[in-house]
Amino acid sequence: MDLRTVLDSVGSHFCWNSRYATIHAVSLIHLAPRELRKFQRKLLAWFAAGQRDLPWRKTKDPYRIWLSEIMLQQTRVAAVVPYYSKFLARFPNLPALARARTEAVLQRWAGLGYYSRARNLHRAAKEILARHGGGFPRGYDAALSLPGIGRYTAAAVLSIAYGEPLAVLDGNVARVVARLGAVRGNLRAPSTWKKLDGTAQMLLARDAPGDWNQALMELGATVCTPKSPCCAECPVAAWCRARKLGIAGQLPDSRAKRKPVRITLAAAVLLDPRGKTLVIRDGEGALFSGLWQFPVLEITANGAAQLRRHLKKIFGLTAVGQMMPLGAARHTVTFREVRLEPYLVRVAKLPRVQGARTPSLTRLADLPISGATRKIADAAISFCSRVPIH
Ligand code: SF4
Repeated sequence: MDLRTVLDSVGSHFCWNSRYATIHAVSLIHLAPRELRKFQRKLLAWFAAGQRDLPWRKTKDPYRIWLSEIMLQQTRVAAVVPYYSKFLARFPNLPALARARTEAVLQRWAGLGYYSRARNLHRAAKEILARHGGGFPRGYDAALSLPGIGRYTAAAVLSIAYGEPLAVLDGNVARVVARLGAVRGNLRAPSTWKKLDGTAQMLLARDAPGDWNQALMELGATVCTPKSPCCAECPVAAWCRARKLGIAGQLPDSRAKRKPVRITLAAAVLLDPRGKTLVIRDGEGALFSGLWQFPVLEITANGAAQLRRHLKKIFGLTAVGQMMPLGAARHTVTFREVRLEPYLVRVAKLPRVQGARTPSLTRLADLPISGATRKIADAAISFCSRVPIH
């Protein structure tokens, strides 16, 4: 039996409850219990034998698993590993994170991007300490009520840490399940997603939900990859309808992407004779919310001239010397493609700006800054080492 049969049977046979999204698909259990077990065993054995050696797979500590799941959102595994270790060295447990200052948390997150994740993680840690005594809640609804935790993260943490029978479904797992069932169309369409979710719940190995979820994720990340699935190496190829139909590489159907919004920002690295610079903290909801950054201005053309006028208007800076371009950089945040045009601006005296800070350019990394700001600072330091400041 292939999994199309499973999918077809899901729509009319499942019901949810808010606590565990449990599926009752009696027809499936009667249709293929032995095959389903075999399918589960194959995937679990493959995972046990060849899983990647990742630091968060060595623990059942819900705090550490939760942290890894949040860091892995929209971020590659290779990029996460060093941040994960450094973050844990500074905040080894949930109370340590909950009691930290937001600025210290953002600083450890700096460079990883999507900073709302760090702020929500911190808020959730405080809430867990206040309402659950510092232990990650075991209940699905309690986990879901925490900032930054959606169904996927709640299911991942509770299944891996506590063995709760909850199947995960994100884009990665949905792609695998859709290929197994040769599902066409937009996977994110609510009715399709509901069926995929129901199927994921039905496929779940209830005696090993944590390993099962990680095995499906691993399959999606290493074998059943988005562009060219390696069906020849797939442990569950025998059950895959897309492979049988020869359409594995065509699924899932590509969906219309949101058009990227392109903006260009000119950034001013103001530098006084002592080597000090000026940074401002981005407000809530801004591009680099909560992080310190150089004054920026959205520009349309001739960045240097516009920036010069802006500095005069906003900071009253009139005696601005030559503005040295530091090389443009690109930065993508979800659907926004930002082109950064930084300029080194030498000033006799930094302006006084409420709420701003004036650290040494070389000590800027002591503050929570984005990867983009760090790159600009490095370019400015490199420029100054070649060309004397004043
Ligand atoms: Fe994915 Fe191919 Fe395995 Fe099917 S057989 S699950 S398409 S890797």
